[in-house]
Amino acid sequence: MADQSSPRPIKAERIAGFGTTVFSVWTRLAQQHNAINLGQGFPNFDPPAFVMEAARQTLEGYQQYAPLGGMPRLRQVLAQQAKKDWGRDVNANTEITVTIGATEGIYATIQALINPGDEVILIEPFYDSYPASITMAGGVPRYVPLRPTEDKGWSLDLDELRALITPKTRMLVLNTPHNPTGKCFTRQELQALADICIEHDLLVLSDEVYDKLVFEGATHIPIATLDGMWERTVTLSSAGKTFSVTGWKIGWAIASPALTDAIQMAHQWIPFCGITPLQLAVAEAIEASQTNGYYDELRQLYQGKRDQLVAILREVGLDPYVPEGTYFVIGNTEKLDFDNDEAACQYLTEHVGVAAIPPSHFYSDEHKHLAKHFLRFAFCKDDETIKQSAERLRAKLTT
Ligand code: PMP
Ligand code: GLN
Repeated sequence: MADQSSPRPIKAERIAGFGTTVFSVWTRLAQQHNAINLGQGFPNFDPPAFVMEAARQTLEGYQQYAPLGGMPRLRQVLAQQAKKDWGRDVNANTEITVTIGATEGIYATIQALINPGDEVILIEPFYDSYPASITMAGGVPRYVPLRPTEDKGWSLDLDELRALITPKTRMLVLNTPHNPTGKCFTRQELQALADICIEHDLLVLSDEVYDKLVFEGATHIPIATLDGMWERTVTLSSAGKTFSVTGWKIGWAIASPALTDAIQMAHQWIPFCGITPLQLAVAEAIEASQTNGYYDELRQLYQGKRDQLVAILREVGLDPYVPEGTYFVIGNTEKLDFDNDEAACQYLTEHVGVAAIPPSHFYSDEHKHLAKHFLRFAFCKDDETIKQSAERLRAKLTT
């Protein structure tokens, strides 16, 4: 007979330890306090007109399931784009999977490639869906932090990373351009990581969702293009950031036929397929962007926004780490008197009227203290929003 005195927990163990994501929590707090939301990363301006027009057109004709790997037209355009960006012939049929945003790409890749007990190395600060996806697969995340450098950049200690490797290590997760630091890993850094992965036979999940948001002086290099890395790398990206359509959730995984086959074995049981008309709209958007100058405009637009926010943060004493890519910037509260990043975010949201994200959520318990003075601000906002944020920050933080 069932023991009535202690009812069975509703939540399965694999999710019982999860809280609500830091993005939802701080968006709710921003709304509650009427604060400008520079927390969760989503543009508050319209996508480009040519992208919206493509969606209007494709919505008319396509209402049924797509093939499980994605609409052939999108896969062809993604292969074309890979040829342009990477100089590689990617097979549209056997090497591309269209996913529900990069988030599902991360989940499906890990479900497909990680066995219970396998260890996966994460670089801190990490995107928060990595550890969740790993633990849901029964894998074990191991953590190595990026450390701020003297010149306000970020570096990875390779000896610290090597020390984590055991016979159970199966995968390294890389994110470049990196959320939240904005770091673009250099070729030299990627080569050093590639050498380690080859030596220890590790797979790489390379999250490159900000690949089109790279500023002057920096370059985005996909690790899959380095010698010996194609066979062991899954490259993920998505249309959300590039076309300001985070709600469309069209992402993709590019990988060798063997890795793609594994990913599709998982993907077929998660959503089965991606949203048909929006896949076609993204195909149009990418194809048009190959010739209409959009990618350059986007970079210029975001470089301008980055420069504005960086200048404001400097002015109010939140010493920013200037990002080389992405639409995030980390500020440093060391000169102000806060107990930690949560307290600083709380103060900013409630008393300044500008919400940010406390980056300690992107660190393991062991390394959370490293984020004590950090705040993450998103600058994917229209000029008026950035201007108003500046006014609020100046009013309360300037002494
Ligand atoms: N990876 C990183 C580093 C991200 O910042 C995000 C979302 N902003 C994602 C993955 C998820 O992408 P998507 O919205 O396409 O699921
Ligand atoms: N990736 C976005 C960010 O870093 C948010 C994504 C989400 O809310 N799940 O802010």
